[in-house]
Amino acid sequence: MKAFVAGWPVSHSLSPFLHGFWLQRHAIAGSYEAVACEPDGFRGFLRNFPSNGWIGGNITIPHKEAALLACDQVDETARAIGAVNTVWLQNGFIHGTNTDSHGFSANLDQHAPRWKSGRTAVVLGAGGASRAVIHALATNGYNNISLVNRTVEKAEKIAREFGSHIVPRQWDDLGKLMQDADIVVNTTSLGMKGQPELEIDLNSVKTGSIVTDIVYTPLMTPFLKAAAKAGLETVDGLGMLLHQAVPGFEKWFGIRPQVDAELRDHLLKILAAREAGR
Ligand code: NAP
Repeated sequence: MKAFVAGWPVSHSLSPFLHGFWLQRHAIAGSYEAVACEPDGFRGFLRNFPSNGWIGGNITIPHKEAALLACDQVDETARAIGAVNTVWLQNGFIHGTNTDSHGFSANLDQHAPRWKSGRTAVVLGAGGASRAVIHALATNGYNNISLVNRTVEKAEKIAREFGSHIVPRQWDDLGKLMQDADIVVNTTSLGMKGQPELEIDLNSVKTGSIVTDIVYTPLMTPFLKAAAKAGLETVDGLGMLLHQAVPGFEKWFGIRPQVDAELRDHLLKILAAREAGR
Protein backbone atom coordinates (compact mmCIF):
# COMPACT_ATOMS: atom_id res chain seq x y z
CA MET A 1 0.00 0.00 0.00
CA LYS A 2 1.69 3.16 -1.25
CA ALA A 3 0.44 6.69 -0.63
CA PHE A 4 2.02 9.93 -1.82
CA VAL A 5 2.32 13.65 -1.29
CA ALA A 6 2.60 15.40 -4.65
CA GLY A 7 3.93 18.95 -4.87
CA TRP A 8 6.49 21.17 -6.58
CA PRO A 9 8.82 21.46 -4.80
CA VAL A 10 7.98 18.81 -2.23
CA SER A 11 11.24 18.09 -0.39
CA HIS A 12 10.24 20.44 2.47
CA SER A 13 7.04 18.48 3.22
CA LEU A 14 6.70 17.09 6.74
CA SER A 15 3.94 14.69 5.69
CA PRO A 16 6.27 11.70 5.03
CA PHE A 17 7.51 11.94 8.66
CA LEU A 18 3.99 12.23 9.96
CA HIS A 19 2.49 9.32 8.05
CA GLY A 20 5.71 7.32 8.45
CA PHE A 21 5.30 7.63 12.24
CA TRP A 22 1.74 6.25 12.10
CA LEU A 23 2.65 3.45 9.66
CA GLN A 24 5.32 2.31 12.09
CA ARG A 25 3.10 2.72 15.16
CA HIS A 26 0.38 0.55 13.61
CA ALA A 27 2.85 -1.90 12.01
CA ILE A 28 1.27 -1.36 8.58
CA ALA A 29 3.19 -2.76 5.61
CA GLY A 30 2.81 0.40 3.56
CA SER A 31 4.66 3.51 2.55
CA TYR A 32 4.07 7.23 2.12
CA GLU A 33 6.38 8.92 -0.35
CA ALA A 34 7.05 12.46 -1.58
CA VAL A 35 6.59 12.84 -5.34
CA ALA A 36 8.03 15.94 -7.01
CA CYS A 37 5.54 16.70 -9.73
CA GLU A 38 5.95 19.65 -12.11
CA PRO A 39 2.81 21.68 -12.88
CA ASP A 40 2.79 20.45 -16.50
CA GLY A 41 2.68 16.83 -15.43
CA PHE A 42 0.31 17.13 -12.50
CA ARG A 43 -2.99 16.32 -14.19
CA GLY A 44 -1.47 13.22 -15.80
CA PHE A 45 -0.04 12.13 -12.45
CA LEU A 46 -3.38 12.53 -10.69
CA ARG A 47 -5.45 10.79 -13.36
CA ASN A 48 -3.03 7.86 -13.48
CA PHE A 49 -2.15 7.33 -9.81
CA PRO A 50 -4.34 4.22 -9.41
CA SER A 51 -2.79 2.46 -12.41
CA ASN A 52 0.67 3.36 -11.14
CA GLY A 53 0.20 1.46 -7.88
CA TRP A 54 -0.77 4.28 -5.50
CA ILE A 55 -3.77 3.98 -3.19
CA GLY A 56 -4.11 7.74 -2.80
CA GLY A 57 -2.29 10.67 -1.35
CA ASN A 58 -1.98 14.30 -0.45
CA ILE A 59 -1.72 17.20 -2.83
CA THR A 60 0.28 20.23 -1.81
CA ILE A 61 1.34 23.58 -3.25
CA PRO A 62 0.99 24.49 -6.10
CA HIS A 63 -1.42 21.73 -7.20
CA LYS A 64 -4.37 21.99 -4.80
CA GLU A 65 -6.60 24.00 -7.15
CA ALA A 66 -5.66 21.86 -10.18
CA ALA A 67 -6.57 18.76 -8.16
CA LEU A 68 -10.08 20.11 -7.62
CA LEU A 69 -10.59 20.09 -11.39
CA ALA A 70 -8.83 16.78 -12.03
CA CYS A 71 -10.78 14.58 -9.57
CA ASP A 72 -13.88 12.65 -10.71
CA GLN A 73 -15.76 13.60 -7.53
CA VAL A 74 -15.11 16.18 -4.85
CA ASP A 75 -17.08 16.81 -1.68
CA GLU A 76 -18.78 20.00 -0.44
CA THR A 77 -15.80 20.97 1.72
CA ALA A 78 -13.32 20.87 -1.15
CA ARG A 79 -15.73 22.78 -3.37
CA ALA A 80 -16.30 25.50 -0.75
CA ILE A 81 -12.57 25.89 -0.10
CA GLY A 82 -11.77 25.68 -3.81
CA ALA A 83 -8.94 23.20 -3.37
CA VAL A 84 -8.26 19.49 -2.83
CA ASN A 85 -5.49 18.22 -0.55
CA THR A 86 -6.45 14.55 -0.15
CA VAL A 87 -7.35 12.00 -2.85
CA TRP A 88 -8.29 8.32 -2.90
CA LEU A 89 -9.87 5.77 -5.21
CA GLN A 90 -13.42 4.61 -4.49
CA ASN A 91 -15.55 2.41 -6.78
CA GLY A 92 -13.18 3.14 -9.63
CA PHE A 93 -13.45 6.93 -9.26
CA ILE A 94 -10.88 9.42 -8.03
CA HIS A 95 -12.33 11.25 -5.02
CA GLY A 96 -11.01 14.44 -3.45
CA THR A 97 -11.57 16.39 -0.26
CA ASN A 98 -9.86 19.13 1.70
CA THR A 99 -8.86 18.29 5.27
CA ASP A 100 -7.29 21.65 6.27
CA SER A 101 -10.60 22.88 7.67
CA HIS A 102 -10.84 19.73 9.82
CA GLY A 103 -7.19 20.22 10.86
CA PHE A 104 -7.88 23.75 12.04
CA SER A 105 -11.04 22.78 14.00
CA ALA A 106 -9.55 19.65 15.54
CA ASN A 107 -6.47 21.54 16.72
CA LEU A 108 -8.69 24.02 18.55
CA ASP A 109 -10.95 21.22 19.85
CA GLN A 110 -7.87 19.63 21.38
CA HIS A 111 -6.16 22.73 22.80
CA ALA A 112 -8.90 25.35 23.37
CA PRO A 113 -12.27 23.54 23.23
CA ARG A 114 -14.20 26.62 24.37
CA TRP A 115 -13.52 28.12 20.90
CA LYS A 116 -16.76 26.44 19.75
CA SER A 117 -18.91 28.78 21.83
CA GLY A 118 -17.53 31.88 20.04
CA ARG A 119 -19.39 33.67 17.25
CA THR A 120 -17.12 36.59 16.32
CA ALA A 121 -13.73 36.13 14.64
CA VAL A 122 -10.99 38.25 13.13
CA VAL A 123 -9.04 36.47 10.40
CA LEU A 124 -5.80 37.96 9.09
CA GLY A 125 -4.89 36.88 5.55
CA ALA A 126 -6.89 35.84 2.50
CA GLY A 127 -4.59 33.29 0.83
CA GLY A 128 -5.21 29.58 0.25
CA ALA A 129 -5.11 28.58 3.92
CA SER A 130 -7.47 31.39 4.92
CA ARG A 131 -10.27 29.76 2.94
CA ALA A 132 -9.96 26.55 4.98
CA VAL A 133 -9.91 28.52 8.24
CA ILE A 134 -13.00 30.51 7.23
CA HIS A 135 -14.76 27.30 6.26
CA ALA A 136 -13.95 25.84 9.70
CA LEU A 137 -15.12 28.94 11.56
CA ALA A 138 -18.32 29.24 9.53
CA THR A 139 -19.25 25.57 9.92
CA ASN A 140 -18.65 25.81 13.67
CA GLY A 141 -21.14 28.60 14.25
CA TYR A 142 -19.09 31.76 13.67
CA ASN A 143 -21.50 34.17 12.02
CA ASN A 144 -19.46 37.36 12.23
CA ILE A 145 -16.05 36.96 10.59
CA SER A 146 -13.96 40.05 9.82
CA LEU A 147 -11.42 39.32 7.12
CA VAL A 148 -8.39 41.59 6.93
CA ASN A 149 -5.88 41.30 4.12
CA ARG A 150 -3.17 43.44 2.57
CA THR A 151 -4.77 42.94 -0.84
CA VAL A 152 -8.38 43.88 -0.11
CA GLU A 153 -9.69 42.43 -3.40
CA LYS A 154 -8.77 38.93 -2.27
CA ALA A 155 -10.76 39.35 0.95
CA GLU A 156 -13.68 40.69 -1.08
CA LYS A 157 -13.57 37.67 -3.37
CA ILE A 158 -13.69 35.26 -0.40
CA ALA A 159 -16.58 37.22 1.12
CA ARG A 160 -18.53 37.00 -2.16
CA GLU A 161 -17.99 33.25 -2.31
CA PHE A 162 -18.63 32.40 1.35
CA GLY A 163 -21.49 34.77 2.13
CA SER A 164 -22.54 37.81 4.11
CA HIS A 165 -21.16 36.58 7.46
CA ILE A 166 -17.66 37.32 6.07
CA VAL A 167 -16.91 41.04 6.05
CA PRO A 168 -13.74 42.38 4.38
CA ARG A 169 -12.14 45.06 6.58
CA GLN A 170 -9.07 47.30 6.56
CA TRP A 171 -5.90 46.78 8.66
CA ASP A 172 -6.61 50.19 10.22
CA ASP A 173 -9.85 48.83 11.71
CA LEU A 174 -8.09 45.98 13.54
CA GLY A 175 -7.93 47.65 16.96
CA LYS A 176 -11.68 48.16 16.99
CA LEU A 177 -12.50 44.73 15.52
CA MET A 178 -10.37 42.88 18.06
CA GLN A 179 -12.35 44.36 20.96
CA ASP A 180 -15.24 42.05 20.06
CA ALA A 181 -13.38 39.01 18.75
CA ASP A 182 -13.78 35.63 20.46
CA ILE A 183 -10.89 34.39 18.34
CA VAL A 184 -8.13 36.07 16.32
CA VAL A 185 -6.43 33.95 13.66
CA ASN A 186 -3.29 34.66 11.67
CA THR A 187 -3.35 32.93 8.29
CA THR A 188 -0.80 35.23 6.62
CA SER A 189 2.73 33.97 6.12
CA LEU A 190 4.00 36.83 8.31
CA GLY A 191 5.98 35.57 11.28
CA MET A 192 7.13 32.46 9.43
CA LYS A 193 10.88 31.87 9.48
CA GLY A 194 12.45 34.14 6.85
CA GLN A 195 9.38 36.40 6.63
CA PRO A 196 8.77 39.76 8.31
CA GLU A 197 6.97 39.66 11.65
CA LEU A 198 3.27 40.25 12.02
CA GLU A 199 3.22 43.42 14.04
CA ILE A 200 -0.13 44.09 15.64
CA ASP A 201 -0.99 45.80 18.88
CA LEU A 202 -2.94 43.17 20.82
CA ASN A 203 -3.84 45.42 23.73
CA SER A 204 -7.36 45.95 22.50
CA VAL A 205 -8.15 42.22 22.21
CA LYS A 206 -11.08 41.26 24.42
CA THR A 207 -10.17 39.48 27.67
CA GLY A 208 -10.80 35.76 27.21
CA SER A 209 -10.16 35.76 23.46
CA ILE A 210 -8.25 32.90 21.88
CA VAL A 211 -5.34 33.79 19.59
CA THR A 212 -4.07 31.23 17.10
CA ASP A 213 -1.48 31.24 14.35
CA ILE A 214 -1.40 28.65 11.58
CA VAL A 215 2.30 29.37 10.96
CA TYR A 216 4.28 26.73 12.87
CA THR A 217 7.90 27.57 12.00
CA PRO A 218 8.72 28.85 14.57
CA LEU A 219 6.22 27.17 16.83
CA MET A 220 5.83 30.24 19.03
CA THR A 221 5.60 33.02 16.46
CA PRO A 222 6.21 36.60 17.60
CA PHE A 223 2.44 37.10 17.22
CA LEU A 224 1.69 34.24 19.65
CA LYS A 225 4.38 35.44 22.04
CA ALA A 226 2.82 38.90 22.10
CA ALA A 227 -0.62 37.37 22.70
CA ALA A 228 0.66 35.22 25.58
CA LYS A 229 2.33 38.30 27.07
CA ALA A 230 -1.02 40.11 26.88
CA GLY A 231 -2.52 37.26 28.95
CA LEU A 232 -4.48 35.67 26.09
CA GLU A 233 -4.87 31.94 25.48
CA THR A 234 -2.77 30.87 22.48
CA VAL A 235 -2.82 27.84 20.19
CA ASP A 236 0.07 27.15 17.80
CA GLY A 237 -0.27 25.89 14.22
CA LEU A 238 1.50 22.52 14.42
CA GLY A 239 -1.67 20.75 15.55
CA MET A 240 -3.47 21.88 12.39
CA LEU A 241 -0.83 20.13 10.30
CA LEU A 242 -1.06 16.98 12.42
CA HIS A 243 -4.86 16.81 12.46
CA GLN A 244 -5.32 17.51 8.74
CA ALA A 245 -3.41 14.28 8.07
CA VAL A 246 -5.81 12.06 10.04
CA PRO A 247 -8.67 11.61 7.51
CA GLY A 248 -6.29 10.75 4.66
CA PHE A 249 -4.43 8.11 6.66
CA GLU A 250 -7.73 6.56 7.66
CA LYS A 251 -8.98 6.47 4.04
CA TRP A 252 -5.81 4.88 2.66
CA PHE A 253 -4.74 2.56 5.46
CA GLY A 254 -8.03 1.83 7.27
CA ILE A 255 -7.04 2.98 10.77
CA ARG A 256 -7.93 6.33 12.34
CA PRO A 257 -4.62 7.48 13.85
CA GLN A 258 -4.22 9.56 17.00
CA VAL A 259 -2.66 12.99 17.30
CA ASP A 260 -0.87 12.81 20.65
CA ALA A 261 2.15 14.15 22.50
CA GLU A 262 4.44 11.44 21.09
CA LEU A 263 3.62 12.39 17.48
CA ARG A 264 4.00 16.08 18.27
CA ASP A 265 7.41 15.48 19.87
CA HIS A 266 8.49 13.45 16.85
CA LEU A 267 7.63 16.33 14.49
CA LEU A 268 9.20 18.90 16.81
CA LYS A 269 12.47 16.94 16.72
CA ILE A 270 12.39 16.92 12.92
CA LEU A 271 11.72 20.66 12.82
CA ALA A 272 14.57 21.26 15.29
CA ALA A 273 16.95 19.12 13.22
CA ARG A 274 16.03 21.09 10.11
CA GLU A 275 16.56 24.34 11.94
CA ALA A 276 20.01 23.13 12.96
CA GLY A 277 20.72 22.15 9.34
CA ARG A 278 20.96 18.41 10.08
P1 NAP B 1 -0.71 32.22 0.45
O1 NAP B 1 -1.85 31.69 -0.30
O2 NAP B 1 0.55 32.58 -0.26
O3 NAP B 1 -1.21 33.53 1.25
C1 NAP B 1 -0.31 34.35 1.96
C2 NAP B 1 -1.07 35.37 2.79
O4 NAP B 1 -0.12 36.15 3.53
C3 NAP B 1 -1.88 36.37 1.95
O5 NAP B 1 -3.00 36.77 2.68
C4 NAP B 1 -0.88 37.53 1.82
O6 NAP B 1 -1.49 38.78 1.58
C5 NAP B 1 -0.27 37.53 3.20
N1 NAP B 1 1.03 38.19 3.20
C6 NAP B 1 2.21 37.70 2.72
N2 NAP B 1 3.20 38.62 2.89
C7 NAP B 1 2.63 39.71 3.47
C8 NAP B 1 3.12 40.99 3.90
N3 NAP B 1 4.40 41.32 3.76
N4 NAP B 1 2.25 41.85 4.48
C9 NAP B 1 0.93 41.53 4.65
N5 NAP B 1 0.41 40.34 4.26
C10 NAP B 1 1.24 39.43 3.67
O7 NAP B 1 -0.24 31.22 1.61
P2 NAP B 1 -1.13 30.14 2.38
O8 NAP B 1 -1.06 28.86 1.66
O9 NAP B 1 -2.45 30.74 2.66
O10 NAP B 1 -0.28 29.94 3.73
C11 NAP B 1 -0.13 30.99 4.66
C12 NAP B 1 0.71 30.49 5.85
O11 NAP B 1 0.01 29.45 6.52
C13 NAP B 1 2.06 29.91 5.45
O12 NAP B 1 3.02 30.32 6.40
C14 NAP B 1 1.85 28.41 5.53
O13 NAP B 1 3.03 27.69 5.86
C15 NAP B 1 0.85 28.33 6.69
N6 NAP B 1 -0.01 27.13 6.62
C16 NAP B 1 -0.06 26.32 7.73
C17 NAP B 1 -0.88 25.21 7.71
C18 NAP B 1 -0.93 24.31 8.90
O14 NAP B 1 -1.32 23.14 8.76
N7 NAP B 1 -0.59 24.80 10.10
C19 NAP B 1 -1.63 24.91 6.56
C20 NAP B 1 -1.56 25.75 5.46
C21 NAP B 1 -0.74 26.87 5.50
P3 NAP B 1 -1.77 39.26 0.05
O15 NAP B 1 -3.02 38.53 -0.37
O16 NAP B 1 -1.93 40.71 0.17
O17 NAP B 1 -0.56 38.85 -0.76
